[in-house]
Amino acid sequence: MYQILIVEDEVKIAATVKEYLERDGHYVRHVTTVAAALSCVTAETDLIILDLMLPDGQGEDVCERVVRLYNTPVIILTSKRSEQSRINGFARGADDYLTKPFSPRELAMRVKSVLKRARPKDNVIRLEDDVVLFLDRRAVTKKGLEVKLTPNEYAILLCLASNWKAVVSRDKLVEYINAPDTLDRAVDVHIRHLRQKLEDDPRNPRLIKTAHGHGYALGVKRHA
Ligand code: CA
Repeated sequence: MYQILIVEDEVKIAATVKEYLERDGHYVRHVTTVAAALSCVTAETDLIILDLMLPDGQGEDVCERVVRLYNTPVIILTSKRSEQSRINGFARGADDYLTKPFSPRELAMRVKSVLKRARPKDNVIRLEDDVVLFLDRRAVTKKGLEVKLTPNEYAILLCLASNWKAVVSRDKLVEYINAPDTLDRAVDVHIRHLRQKLEDDPRNPRLIKTAHGHGYALGVKRHA
């Protein structure tokens, strides 16, 4: 499933596109203005379908900005048909350009093809206090220096990071510990060690929060 943002002030068109993309299993949001688009896009947005003539400005500006900030793939969907508009769209970083009236099925196919070619995202999760997980090599750094974690500590940290802002119960975390008959108290010990290794102030943890009686949670995650 991919996160797709539709930027389109013609509500009917947006609804049709949304329907087709949701049918393909994507999570789709829709906004109608340049301002909303810019505040909505995050590093986690996988693709933008972008109209060019918007009530508060030009789609081209959205395109240039998101490509520069996040390298997000963009498909322009517009009634501007001139060669100059197309060239301008690609020059601003668009991956594809489709003119209205259009076939929603064709658009869905183009979405598929752009997503397939899309630059792979950094396999990195950035956490509070300059802690970074490198998923490919199962390594963790703090302030740029590698921190040695045991496999169980890494597994717990990864589980918390994958469920960011959600409380993960001790029972659930126990499942990630590679040792038979582990007691859930063992989770607390691993958490204590993780805090000693990763927190600026282990006694006043900012990274790994305790949900008393429930489990643990990672407060804030930022993406690469
Ligand atoms: Ca428009």
